[in-house]
Amino acid sequence: MIKFLDLKAINDSFEPDLSLAIKRVLDSGWYLLGNEVEAFELEYSKFIGTKHCIGVANGLDALRLILKAYIEMGIMKEGDEIIVPANTYIATILAITDNRLKPVLVEPNINTYNIDPFKIEEKINEHTKGIMIVHLYGQNSMHSEIQRLVTKYNLQLIEDNAQSSGCFYGSQRTGALGHAAGHSFYPGKNLGALGDGGAVTTNNDELANVIRSLANYGSSKKYFNDYQGINSRLDEIQAAILQVKLKRLDIDNQHRYEIAKYYCKNIINSDIILPVQKDFFNVDFFSGNNRVFNQSHVWHLFVIRHNQRDKLQKYLNDKGIQTIIHYPVPSHKQLAYKEWNKLSFPITEKTHNEVLSLPINHLIKIEDCKMIINNLNTYNK
Ligand SMILES: *Cc1c(COP(=O)(O)O)cnc(C)c1O
Repeated sequence: MIKFLDLKAINDSFEPDLSLAIKRVLDSGWYLLGNEVEAFELEYSKFIGTKHCIGVANGLDALRLILKAYIEMGIMKEGDEIIVPANTYIATILAITDNRLKPVLVEPNINTYNIDPFKIEEKINEHTKGIMIVHLYGQNSMHSEIQRLVTKYNLQLIEDNAQSSGCFYGSQRTGALGHAAGHSFYPGKNLGALGDGGAVTTNNDELANVIRSLANYGSSKKYFNDYQGINSRLDEIQAAILQVKLKRLDIDNQHRYEIAKYYCKNIINSDIILPVQKDFFNVDFFSGNNRVFNQSHVWHLFVIRHNQRDKLQKYLNDKGIQTIIHYPVPSHKQLAYKEWNKLSFPITEKTHNEVLSLPINHLIKIEDCKMIINNLNTYNK
C-alpha cells in the first residue's frame, strides 16, 4: 500500500535531532513560555519576514485570536462581516463565527481553487471589516485586486497560512502579506509538530501584544488580567521540535515541487484535471542566501479533479494507492451551519464533488509516483 502520508517515516528522517530536542526540554525542566518558544518565535518571524510571531496552541486558535484581538482593540465588533472563501477547510470559518462575526462566503476560481478576487467587491458593504484569505492546498491566493480592495475599503487582511508554510508571493512569504496571519503546525502540515501547534505573525505591535495577552488568560503580568482571555500556548517541546523542522522546510518544499512537476508532466488522461502549473516555468531564483527559489505553491496537497471522483478513488485504493478528499462537504452544507444549507455555491460544490488528493511529501519515492501515474493513465471510467 502506498500510504497517503507516512508521518512516522517523515519524522524518523529528522532523527536524532528530534529526540535531542525533546531531551533538551526534559533536561531544562521548563515546559511552557520558556526559551524554546522564544527561540522558535524569533526564527519563525525571521523566516516569514514579520516583526512578531506569537506561538499559540493550534491554527484555529491563531485565527480566532487575531479576530478576538481586533474586537478588543475596537476595530471589529459583533455582527461585523468578514469575507472568506467558501472553498476552504471549515476551521477558517469557525474562527469567524466563534467571535460572533459574520462570514461572507465567496466562490473560488475553478482553476486555482482559491478565492476569486473578482467576486469579492460585490460582497463588500458598510459592515465589512476584513478579508480572510486562505492559501489553499499550499498555493498563494494573494492578488493585486485583493490589495486594491483592502486599501480602497480600509479592511484588515488576514491570511490563513495553515497549508502554505514557506510559500512566496513574489519576494515575500505568505504570512507576511496582510495585517496578520494564522499558521498551523498540525502534524500533517508542511511544517508539522508532534502534536498541535500554531502561531500568529504580524508587523503590528499593538495587535501582537493583545494576542500574546489574550492567549495567556488575558494577562501580560502574572495574576493581573486585562482581558477575558483564553489559554492557547505553544509548548516548549513542540517549539523545540519546530526549530529542528523549520531548518529543512525550504528543501522539503522543493522536493514536493519536484514531485508535483513529475505528476503534472506525466499524468496524461483527458478525464483528469491537473492543478494549474504556474510554478513550473519561470522559476524565480532568490539570490543573497541559500533559498532555492521562491515557490508560489508549496504543494501541501496535490489535488486532481475527476467528474467520477469516488469511482476513481476506489480504483486507486484497489491498486494499493491511498488517496484523500480535501474536502468532501463544504462548510455551507455542514450540520454545524444549518442556516446556510440552502445556499448555493456551485463552484465550491463542484470542487467538493470532484477533488482527490494524491500522495505527496518529500519522502515519496519516484517508483511509487510512476506506479500511481501508470494507474491513472490507464484508467477508463
Ligand atoms: C489545518 C487548517 C487549519 C487549522 O489548523 P489546526 O492547527 O488544525 O487548528 C485552519 N485552516 C486551514 C486551511 C487548515 O488547513
